[in-house]
Amino acid sequence: MSRRSRGSNTWEVRASTLARNTHNLIRDIVENLQVEPNPNKQLIALSVGDPTTFGNLNPPEQVIQAVRESNEWLSSRSYGPAKGHLEAREAVAKYSAHQSNEEISPEDVVLCSGCSHAIELAITVIADSGQNVLVPRPGFMIYKTVAEGLGINIKYYNLLPDQQWKVDLEDLENQIDDDTAAIVVINPSNPCGSVYNKEHLSEILDIASRNHVPIIADEIYEHFVFSNHEFTALSAVSKDVPILTCGGLTKRFLVPGWRMGWIIIHDRHNVLGKEVRKGLSNLATRILGPNTLIQRALPAILSCTPQSFFDDVVLFIENQAKLAYDELRRAPGLRPIMPQGAMYMMIEIKTSLFPSFKNELQFVERMVAEQSVFCLPGQCFAYPNFMRIVLTVPEDILREACQRITIFCKDHIVSRETLKEIDSNLVNVSSDSEVICDSGPALA
Ligand SMILES: *Cc1c(COP(=O)(O)O)cnc(C)c1O
Repeated sequence: MSRRSRGSNTWEVRASTLARNTHNLIRDIVENLQVEPNPNKQLIALSVGDPTTFGNLNPPEQVIQAVRESNEWLSSRSYGPAKGHLEAREAVAKYSAHQSNEEISPEDVVLCSGCSHAIELAITVIADSGQNVLVPRPGFMIYKTVAEGLGINIKYYNLLPDQQWKVDLEDLENQIDDDTAAIVVINPSNPCGSVYNKEHLSEILDIASRNHVPIIADEIYEHFVFSNHEFTALSAVSKDVPILTCGGLTKRFLVPGWRMGWIIIHDRHNVLGKEVRKGLSNLATRILGPNTLIQRALPAILSCTPQSFFDDVVLFIENQAKLAYDELRRAPGLRPIMPQGAMYMMIEIKTSLFPSFKNELQFVERMVAEQSVFCLPGQCFAYPNFMRIVLTVPEDILREACQRITIFCKDHIVSRETLKEIDSNLVNVSSDSEVICDSGPALA
C-alpha cells in the first residue's frame, strides 16, 4: 500500500487522493474563462453569491449587538461541545419549530461551521464510497465538491424550467438505484429561485418513501420567498421519510463569513436509528465544534431579529427580480425565468441565435470583454445554455447591468438574413422570430 519505501533518498510528497479528487466546479470554470473586462466600463459582477459584496445589505443592529455582547463572555472564547452548546442548540430547535409538527429537541440539532459543513456532515454520515447521492440539475455544486473526493458518486435529476423548476418526478425516480444513499432537495433553490409548494413536496416525499431513500433538505433559504408564495419545510410534510435539514445564518441574516450552520435530524420513526445520530456526533468532533463567539450570540440572534428586517430584505430582492425580469425579457435571444424566492435568477441564452458563440461560456466571456458584466455560466450548475445572475446588488447597478446585457444581445443576435440561411432544423425560425422582431433596429 505504501507509496514509498522507507529510506527513500528523494522527496516524494504527493497530494492525497481526496485532495486531488476534490473540485469546485464554479472555481474551475471561472478560472478557465477569459474575464478581462472592458477597461472603459466599470466591472459589474453579477456572479458572486455573497449578499454582503456591495455593502447595501447588512444584518440588523440586534444581531451585531448580540455578537458584541457575546464577546464579553469567557465561554465565547473557549471550546464548546463538538455538536455545539446546549443553549445554542435549544435556540436553533425553537427557531426551527416550523419544520416539524412535533417538538424539535436540542438533541436533534448539530451545529456546524456554515451550511456547507452541515452538507458535508449530512453526506458523509449517510453515504459510503461507491454509493451515490441524487442532486438537482441545475443545482448548487457544493454537493459534488464534497462527495466526489470521497468516492461518493453524484447523480443528477432534472428540474423543469417550464414548470418553475419543479422536479421532474419521473426522472428522479428513475435515477434511484440500489446504491442511492440520499436525495438532495434544495428549496428555495440556488440557482433557480424556485419555491416548492406542499403538494410538490409531497410528490417528492412519495418517491423517497416508496424507495426508502432518506432526504437531505438544503433549506439555507428557508422563509426567503416572495409575496404570494409560501415556504414549507420538507420535514413538516414528511410522514415517514427521515430528513436531515441543513440550514444556518448565512443567507437570511446576511452573515456568510460568520460560518454558523446546523443540521436538524427529523426522524419520527427512528429509521436512522442511534447509529446515524452517533455518527453525526463522531463527525462533529473532526473540527472540535464550530465558532463559539457566534454560538453564544445565537439565542439572541434567532429571537431578537425583528420580522421587519426579513420582510425588507425579501421585498428588496423581489423588486430586484421584477426589475431584472422586465429588462431582460426584452433582450433579444434571452429568456429570464422569474424566481419565487432566494436571491438569484436563471436566464436562458438561446445560443442558436448567437452563432458567433460556441456555447454560453463564450457568451459570458465576451460579455465581460465588451460590457464588463459578468454572469455565472450555467455549466457551473451542470446546466448549459443558461446563466445565473445574483439579485442582491444595488438597484442602480442591476439596472445598468441589465441594460448592458441587452445591448450585448442586440450586438450579437443573428441577423434576419443569416437566420434564413441557417438550417431550419437547427433553429425554429417561427417561434424565435418573435424575439428577433422585438429587437427592432439593432438587427438591421
Ligand atoms: C450559500 C449556500 C450554501 C452554503 O452556505 P454556508 O453557510 O456559507 O456554508 C449551501 N447551500 C446553498 C443552496 C447555498 O446557496
